[in-house]
Amino acid sequence: MDLYEYQAKDLFAAHGVPVLPGSVASNTDQARAEAEKIGGKVVIKAQVKTGGRGKAGGVKLADTPAEAEEKAGAILGMDIKGHTVHRVLVAQASDIAEEYYFSFLLDRANRTFLAMASAEGGVEIEQLAVERPEALAKVPVDPIAGVDKAKALDILRQGNFPAEVIDEAADVVVKLWETFVSEDATLVEVNPLVRDPQDKVIALDGKVTLDENAAFRQPGHGALVDKEAEDPLEAKAKAKDLNYVKLNGEVGIIGNGAGLVMSTLDVVAYAGEKHGGVKPANFLDIGGGASAEVMAAGLDVILGDSDVKSVFVNVFGGITACDAVANGIVEALKILGDNATKPLVVRLDGNNVVEGRKILADANHPLVTLVDTMDNAADKAAELAARA
Ligand code: GDP
Ligand code: MN
Repeated sequence: MDLYEYQAKDLFAAHGVPVLPGSVASNTDQARAEAEKIGGKVVIKAQVKTGGRGKAGGVKLADTPAEAEEKAGAILGMDIKGHTVHRVLVAQASDIAEEYYFSFLLDRANRTFLAMASAEGGVEIEQLAVERPEALAKVPVDPIAGVDKAKALDILRQGNFPAEVIDEAADVVVKLWETFVSEDATLVEVNPLVRDPQDKVIALDGKVTLDENAAFRQPGHGALVDKEAEDPLEAKAKAKDLNYVKLNGEVGIIGNGAGLVMSTLDVVAYAGEKHGGVKPANFLDIGGGASAEVMAAGLDVILGDSDVKSVFVNVFGGITACDAVANGIVEALKILGDNATKPLVVRLDGNNVVEGRKILADANHPLVTLVDTMDNAADKAAELAARA
């Protein structure tokens, strides 16, 4: 999960990383009031989950509350790389002597963490990384050893940080590492990390990505989810602990096991080509124990998608055998009652397949078509979706 800048800076502040005071505003009156509260020069910054806001005109300085109101009015509603600005951060502005770059991230390819540092930070960092990669230090970080002051100094020396601020910057880096570890982040980036005219080191921007796999031990992170930007079906699936991703097609997909569901998406997309180009409507993995409740919850989410015209239930019986899954489907259709409105194509195979198919055949539900192979079932589901 990516955070907004203001959320990232709240985490920074909680871990002792120096940031300047401010808060978000969703209209010009609030922006003016916040600027009055801060007093003096402020910076108005678009809160969107994309970079390059400065270059797009989404970061503006204001000397007075009236100017803050005006600049906020110019930024609110702006489109930055396809993201509409609904809120701005109004923060105390800093005078800048120098802009540096610093980040910690998960280096998947090398199975370690990586620190990146450069004394030449700011809005041109991407260009710097391409044109003069030697000016951007990349230093592996051992996850067990972590980052203490000595390691921080080592990283910053490689990034050519100037002697006047390297000690203070190293203290900030240690706190950024604490933020990275204790918040279960996969990215903590500060660009620019600035040196102000009094040689104070401050994080002027912040980008944080949190590892959602750690949500179970990060109770505070739930509050950081942007409810307004969340897809309502995905939110509903999440509330029921389902692994669901909304896609743009017409054939709803339910399967057990991520690998099977992925290949089902491929098979349906392929079959759809013969039926007017219909496509999978979602990814949904109901996992190993496909109980009636889980099946009903999954069907409920998928049938709630008005784009869905047919549903393909593709199950390979393993630890949870086909008869249990078949009973799950029959029970789920009872639970859903009149809410089950779209044709279901079911393909069962694996453990106890004969019993499973018999249960579905005996139930003889008008919406259910039983098909023996995955390819034929995909074809049938695509055909039904195209016809609807
Ligand atoms: P980004 O373009 O999305 O990365 O947004 P940033 O927060 O990094 O802001 C872009 C640029 O605006 C920075 O590199 C700074 O040069 C400038 N900037 C941001 N905040 C301030 C501030 O408080 N004072 C001054 N003078 N410039 C700022
Ligand atoms: Mn930035």
